[in-house]
Amino acid sequence: MSTDQPLAFESSVPLAAVPAATASRIALPAGVKPLQPDWPNVIVIAFYHLAAIAAFLPIYFSWTGVLVAIVTARLTGLLGINLCYHRLLTHQGFKCPKWLEHSLVVIAVCCVEDTPARWVAVHRRHHHHADAQPDPHSPLVNFFWGHIGWVLFKNPELARLGLYDRYAKDILRDRFYVKLERNAMQLQIIAAQWALFFVVGFIAGLLTTDTWTDAALFGGSIMLWGVAVRTVFVWHQTWSVNSITHLWGYRNYETNEDSRNNLFVGYLAHGEGWHNNHHAHPRSARHGHRWWEFDTTYLTIKLLERLGLATDVAVYTPPRATTESPHP
Ligand SMILES: [Zn+2]
Ligand SMILES: [Zn+2]
Repeated sequence: MSTDQPLAFESSVPLAAVPAATASRIALPAGVKPLQPDWPNVIVIAFYHLAAIAAFLPIYFSWTGVLVAIVTARLTGLLGINLCYHRLLTHQGFKCPKWLEHSLVVIAVCCVEDTPARWVAVHRRHHHHADAQPDPHSPLVNFFWGHIGWVLFKNPELARLGLYDRYAKDILRDRFYVKLERNAMQLQIIAAQWALFFVVGFIAGLLTTDTWTDAALFGGSIMLWGVAVRTVFVWHQTWSVNSITHLWGYRNYETNEDSRNNLFVGYLAHGEGWHNNHHAHPRSARHGHRWWEFDTTYLTIKLLERLGLATDVAVYTPPRATTESPHP
């Protein structure tokens, strides 16, 4: 990572039980006006939530759909967002072949959390100003803002060009990621996944039901559960890291913001909820530092390393004596 990126530092503070840095409220990022919705985001988020609710209607509900949603949410959240956007692209915690990196980015784009340059830039800005006023999504403004409000309302400080220039120059050296900045390509990938889930479900329906109508309904079920429900689930999983883990949980490290390790988010989001550990050692590909802090994203990176598909894995290993000590 180039020196103008603010994330490559590693804290040398030892593992210890420490209180939160602050408990005060902060103001919205400068320029945010709550009555100025980001309409494209509002419409997309509302559409996906309504489609996810529709998946529960009797004509679309199927246990196969539920299973597809659970499995694909686990896979896309872990591989696309946690492993690729966060630990690989944002923090450069390891390296992998370009074909694999690009494949993982396509999976991440299917999670509808914006382009790699945008995601990386917003997250680097979060680390740079965590829980201070320019932080794009600190829950110290309020929980709603930290969880979803920051996506629903315009934030002039996140105008793309200035943000990219400051935080995502390295990402935009890759021509594939520049192409993804053109909305058409991002939309094509997202539309293709809707079609793919429907077609796979429809073919399965043809093989298992008696009529074309039933096959089409089964295709619709797989599409709604595999895309809409899964996307909404992964969104709230990601947003919980921004909101919950800056409010509730315990702290292993003395960091200059309010990051916490939260058991619920830690297990739900494949290790991303060990967020205090992460803020203390942001480049480390390993976020779980204590024996109960399971980190399936890191285990996946280790698996890729075993397979020869990940190299230069940056790992912070906590002192052994303190990791075995009980924690309040
Ligand atoms: Zn954070
Ligand atoms: Zn991070």
